[in-house]
Amino acid sequence: MNIHEYQAREILESYGVAVPRAGVASTPDEARKLAEGFGGRAVVKAQVHAGGRGKAGGVKLVSSPDEAAEAAAGMLGKNLITHQTRSEGVPVRKVMVAELTDIADELYVAITMDADAKAPMVMASSEGGMDIEEVAANTPDKIVRVAADPLIGLSPYHARDIAMKIGVPIDLVRPAATLITNLARVFQEKDASLVEINPLVVTTDGKVMALDAKIGFEDDALFRHPEIAALEDPEQNDALEQKAHDAGLAYVKLDGGRVGCMVNGAGLAMATMDITKTAGADPANFLDVGGGAAEDKIAEAFEIIVSDSDVEAILVNLFGGILRCDVAARGIVMGANNTGTQMPLVVAMRGTNAEEGLQILADAGLNVTTVGDLGEAATALTQVLSGGSN
Ligand code: GDP
Ligand code: MN
Repeated sequence: MNIHEYQAREILESYGVAVPRAGVASTPDEARKLAEGFGGRAVVKAQVHAGGRGKAGGVKLVSSPDEAAEAAAGMLGKNLITHQTRSEGVPVRKVMVAELTDIADELYVAITMDADAKAPMVMASSEGGMDIEEVAANTPDKIVRVAADPLIGLSPYHARDIAMKIGVPIDLVRPAATLITNLARVFQEKDASLVEINPLVVTTDGKVMALDAKIGFEDDALFRHPEIAALEDPEQNDALEQKAHDAGLAYVKLDGGRVGCMVNGAGLAMATMDITKTAGADPANFLDVGGGAAEDKIAEAFEIIVSDSDVEAILVNLFGGILRCDVAARGIVMGANNTGTQMPLVVAMRGTNAEEGLQILADAGLNVTTVGDLGEAATALTQVLSGGSN
């Protein structure tokens, strides 16, 4: 789960991390008043669950309360499109107004869980304020990586070492190290999956500050943090992902593809996406219906896939275990009838009641190609995507 910058900023502040003074506004007038409180020099920032706002007009530096109101009016109630949002963008309901910081240097620091190190990993760089993926691709040696001990946390000498390696001026290494250690405490104590500060700045008057704040949380640990779960803003999520989440289905939207994939189990999802690629196409999404889904859940899953406007064909790949294939087939037929779709379906089903399931699909008058294995599925998919008969 993600939260807004202004919410992340408050969490950081409660851990003693230096952040600019700021408030949140839902109207231009509220933005004006906040800017007034900062003497007019302020930054107005669209609150969306996505980065890249600076380049997309979602971060405006202003020098008077009127300009702050104007900047807020330009953002509030509109959708902001950045390279990290879906194509239609995400709605801006609030802006954060912060006092303007005079920046001497922009740095980067983030903490995430590293599966290889089996520990929280601090990643830091002197190249802050820009797209870190680009830094990682072009100048990977400019990223410092240090694992924190999962039991005792990030040690002070590690934190100092990181601060020095990313070019913090020597007299600011101590406060910078304390700041980084506090970020690691946030990561650990709040069960975060990501704490990312881009940029971490050195100010012209000699302070180290978190100028942006992104925190993502481990969904499976949210039950331990009801106060964080309460910060959820469903409007920021992809509508279909939200619908799937509410139905207890795992749906993942993927960019650029045109094949919808329905599977049960994460391993099968991976194999199914490989097959889609083998067929010369890219998956538009995958929807994992899980172990014991009932007929109406399968129908709902099918409807979610059909509602993805990128989808031109659907590949169903199910292994009947706890989920029986006849139940899955009835669910698919129900979903197809509910939506009235004639979209081509390629279906591979094995396991419990597979023959019965395939028969149900064959009898239902759908635009369906049933196949015996994944190899055949790739061939059939290639055919339906090229408009061939089936
Ligand atoms: P993002 O683009 O969504 O990551 O938004 P950020 O909060 O990181 O802001 C983008 C950029 O705006 C930063 O990298 C800074 O260069 C600039 N910026 C943000 N706040 C301030 C500020 O208080 N003063 C100055 N001078 N620049 C700022
Ligand atoms: Mn940023």
